[in-house]
Amino acid sequence: MKTLSLALLLAFNLFAQSPRSREVDELNWMEFKDLVPSKITTVLIPVGTVEAHGVTHNGTDNTIPTAIARRIAPSLNALVAPTLNYGITGSLEAFAGGITISDEAYRLFVRDILRGFARHGMKNLIIVNGHGGNSAVLNAMAEEVGRSEKVRTLVVNWWTFCGDLTLKVFGEDGGHAGWNETAMVQATHPQLVRKELYSDKLATPRATPGSWTAFPFPSSIILYQPKQGYVKFDEAKAKEYFNSCSDKIGGLGREVIEKWDLAGLYLR
Ligand SMILES: [Zn+2]
Repeated sequence: MKTLSLALLLAFNLFAQSPRSREVDELNWMEFKDLVPSKITTVLIPVGTVEAHGVTHNGTDNTIPTAIARRIAPSLNALVAPTLNYGITGSLEAFAGGITISDEAYRLFVRDILRGFARHGMKNLIIVNGHGGNSAVLNAMAEEVGRSEKVRTLVVNWWTFCGDLTLKVFGEDGGHAGWNETAMVQATHPQLVRKELYSDKLATPRATPGSWTAFPFPSSIILYQPKQGYVKFDEAKAKEYFNSCSDKIGGLGREVIEKWDLAGLYLR
């Protein structure tokens, strides 16, 4: 009985805390002030770039982390920051519509945004990254701001962190704009997947380190392994992958926050 009332009380508190919107873009300053930091201290920051992705849209790296962040925000009692949708596009910049930000500019851009959330009361800054070219700068800036502002930062590269789920769901490895990444778009924005334009010829396996390099890379679908990751457009697998991958990232966020708290690190 006691457990039941406690559970009800917790459920009621969660319900009572649920904000009108979890999107930072949609809150006014009075609502933000009311929520942060007294009720919410975690922000999810989706990060991506604009670059070619086989038969999905050039904003694929923005769409995926944004969809993940929206799905996991309630379970982390977090807000979702506006997506940082320009990034460091590398060897695919030459493909139509690709845009890149210089390293120096990107560092300052990321640093200032992280710092801004820290200064407005966020304690846990969780970056959900959708693009590999950003990773080095994100890691460096997350550490720098964590140290200078005494906040906790976590950077998650979804496609690497969910590599085990790629093998489990598809039975093979994936690739940049390969089956796994295309599936994330198929699960959340099926209208942005142009199946009729697809051909296996649009894909090239990435080179083993030291064997060859090409600039620009000849394909925007870059397979992690030869003969694996060609896109097969299975809707059920796509949904299973998006859901399990999001849940895994949400679980990591909750576990890391719990351990930061347990260790008493940068408590405010
Ligand atoms: Zn991508």
